[in-house]
Amino acid sequence: MKNFKLTRRDALKATGASLAASAALTSGCSEAPKSVSGPKSINGVMPWSNWAGNQVCYPAERMRPRNEEALVSLLRESSGKIRAVGAGHSFSALVPTDETMLSMARFRGVKDINYETKEVTVGAGTRLAALGDALAAEGLGMINMPDVNTQSLAGAIATSTHGTGQKFGSLSHYVTGLTLVTAAGDVLKCSALENKDVFDAARCNIGSLGIITDVTLQVRDNYYLKERSEMLPLEEAFEKMEKMRLAKQHFEAYGLPHSNHVLVIEFSEVSKEESDANQKEENSSDVYESFRTLAGVIEAAPFLRSAVMSIGPRTVEIEERYGAWNEIFGNVRDIRFNEMEYTVAAEDGLACFREVLDTIKEKNIDVIFPIEFRYIGEDDIWLSQFYKRAGAAISVHNFHDKPHKAYFSEMEAIFDRFQGRPHWGKLHNKTEKEFSVLYPQWNAFKELRQRLDPERQFINQHLETIFPV
Ligand SMILES: Cc1cc2nc3c(=O)[nH]c(=O)nc-3n(C[C@H](O)[C@H](O)[C@H](O)COP(=O)(O)OP(=O)(O)OC[C@H]3O[C@@H](n4cnc5c(N)ncnc54)[C@H](O)[C@@H]3O)c2cc1C
Repeated sequence: MKNFKLTRRDALKATGASLAASAALTSGCSEAPKSVSGPKSINGVMPWSNWAGNQVCYPAERMRPRNEEALVSLLRESSGKIRAVGAGHSFSALVPTDETMLSMARFRGVKDINYETKEVTVGAGTRLAALGDALAAEGLGMINMPDVNTQSLAGAIATSTHGTGQKFGSLSHYVTGLTLVTAAGDVLKCSALENKDVFDAARCNIGSLGIITDVTLQVRDNYYLKERSEMLPLEEAFEKMEKMRLAKQHFEAYGLPHSNHVLVIEFSEVSKEESDANQKEENSSDVYESFRTLAGVIEAAPFLRSAVMSIGPRTVEIEERYGAWNEIFGNVRDIRFNEMEYTVAAEDGLACFREVLDTIKEKNIDVIFPIEFRYIGEDDIWLSQFYKRAGAAISVHNFHDKPHKAYFSEMEAIFDRFQGRPHWGKLHNKTEKEFSVLYPQWNAFKELRQRLDPERQFINQHLETIFPV
């Protein structure tokens, strides 16, 4: 077997490092990210901010109910606005409120495991990383995972958070039951057999229906993965991606702006023995670190961008990594960024991806952050981006301290031409007018929402634009 030079967390890091090295060679300079200071408290009220730092609010009250009984009385007694918060990993303004912010952090851990059906019931506030560890310890695994594991379970399903692989659904797709407490304090058990309409709506609910206390998930036996990453010239990558769409289990790609290269990452299931035999020392830093350094260099010397982006990728070697599913899927993201993601029909994915990359080049958009491309299987959840349509999710990012608005608007116009549906937890400019066309079950969801929350207690300013009166 080829002896690879780098131990790695992810080949993207090698790509960033190669690009940064090319830039350093060409310019002889580099620039560390500037430190940022967070929001300040106002009149003694502490600020809340999300992971990216682009959403800040000053909740008058912060509640953390101890158990279901405490949650029920809190909801029965409250008449003001309430927003649930998970891990604050949404970029869109789903969470901000200046009234009550409610954390379900005390509803944590695995409550029940049915080893026969391989279903687990988990507290809504459980972080995905903790869930992964608990499942692995029981010889079980989640069927698919997003690219980080720091979200809470209820927060992740609220936005149809997904991983990659057209043979797999989003996390919401694997929910087989959940408990929802309504504004009136009613406790609803929901599944395909009980409160089916609420179940179909609540599996992707953007925090607009009530508070979820627990979630039952379909899981599987524990498994091991080999991740193989290869930098390919654009046309070769597109050909491979089309072939891999249905053939490969999990697969994703990163298009490098202003370059003719795409990093293609495939995941294949392997035996524990093969995984153990191929362990290497891991460096667990953030893959985007080198790209951040590079962005600083290019800011200082913009004329370097096209040379760096075309030379750097050619020096990236094939990379392989082995491990348990929860180690391979859970990446570290310390470098903050803003993100927009749209899902288009799977069969339109490559055409849309190509248009995104071409537009960045043609319009000379000042961005080097890789464009992420993933396939996801369809589901039957009313407001899921994958409702009755297998999707290709395309994500554009920029570092949190770099401008993103004009870039994202340009990209959004492309996604609109492909009837894209925005990720609920990421930045977008859509309102009810567009959503009512994009989602066939829009009215059913709205009616159900109004029935469960007639006083609009779960509606914040952002949701006013999505569910206006
Ligand atoms: C670094 C990073 C990487 C990411 N990677 C991916 C990825 O690979 N794939 C992907 O699809 N997305 C990804 N996302 C987006 C993220 O998964 C979603 O925005 C997700 O919803 C965030 O979960 P959270 O626990 O942080 O919830 P929050 O952002 O805190 O809340 C999200 C929504 O859930 C609601 N909510 C939370 N808890 C409850 C509850 N108990 N009951 C009712 N409603 C509740 C909130 O009110 C809100 O509407 C990423 C985000 C970041 C910052």
